[in-house]
Amino acid sequence: MTDTAISDSLAGRRALVTGGSRGIGAAVVARLAAAGADVLTTARNAPDGPGGPAAFVAADVSTPAGAAAVARRVTERWGTLDILVNTVGGSHAGPGGFAALDDEQWQADLDTNLLGAVRLDRALVPAMVAAGSGAVVHVTSIQRRMPLFEATLGYAAAKAALTTYSKGLANEVGPSGVRVNTVAPGFVRTDGADGLVQRISDGQGIDRAAALKQVMDSLGGIPIGRPASPAEAAELIAFLVSDRAGSVNGAEFVIDGGTVPTV
Ligand code: NAP
Repeated sequence: MTDTAISDSLAGRRALVTGGSRGIGAAVVARLAAAGADVLTTARNAPDGPGGPAAFVAADVSTPAGAAAVARRVTERWGTLDILVNTVGGSHAGPGGFAALDDEQWQADLDTNLLGAVRLDRALVPAMVAAGSGAVVHVTSIQRRMPLFEATLGYAAAKAALTTYSKGLANEVGPSGVRVNTVAPGFVRTDGADGLVQRISDGQGIDRAAALKQVMDSLGGIPIGRPASPAEAAELIAFLVSDRAGSVNGAEFVIDGGTVPTV
């Protein structure tokens, strides 16, 4: 077979990006749209400012009803998808380590970081399988193998489960032409991350640069010396859902500037 350049165009591809109003998800929406995809996105609150090219569904995908509403909208609009990027994730657990994580918080971490994606995949991937093509990305975290215990142990465990689930799904649907991969970010400079830096700055009476350094130090440092940008994470995801990644399935791509110190 002769090697020829593979197009990075996503023209005409039907894409759902969850959590697309801010942060990494918003960057993915913009990047996929720029590549020509028709993008539908979802968050609990409509994005601020003038609407971009993306269509929007307001829903809480951490609930069965919210995930079902989003899946229904996709089915009504397109019948099936070419691209599904499950970006929603995060945690609002407080400090205090494992003993402070009660059942309610564990359930919230699992609903937001695992079950939302599981339910959307269950509703939408069968049509991709029937169509014989598609690309799914699950956004996880380096915490799936470098868990921080102070406030995010439930989050880390849920992301680990999402990674394992994603691998099994890739094995199951790969033969039908649907590729499934995970992207595991380290520290990405999103509004959510900036909010954390601001809270540390306010709480400890230190400036933002010192607070940012504290977050980076808590990760053991970032060898490239800075967090990633949402656009950089979106670039990786755009690659994975494109034909350029046609042989990439069941893989994890870490984007952390070298934070995870082990192989
Ligand atoms: P973010 O800036 O907090 O944005 C989260 C997005 O998801 C928003 O659009 C938010 O909108 C939406 N969202 C949150 N919960 C939702 C729900 N239950 N239902 C529907 N939409 C929901 O997040 P981010 O920092 O870009 O993170 C994106 C992903 O990357 C997450 O999975 C996160 O775990 C992962 N990650 C991020 C970092 C980082 O440093 N930023 C590091 C590792 C992994 P609404 O609030 O309006 O719903």
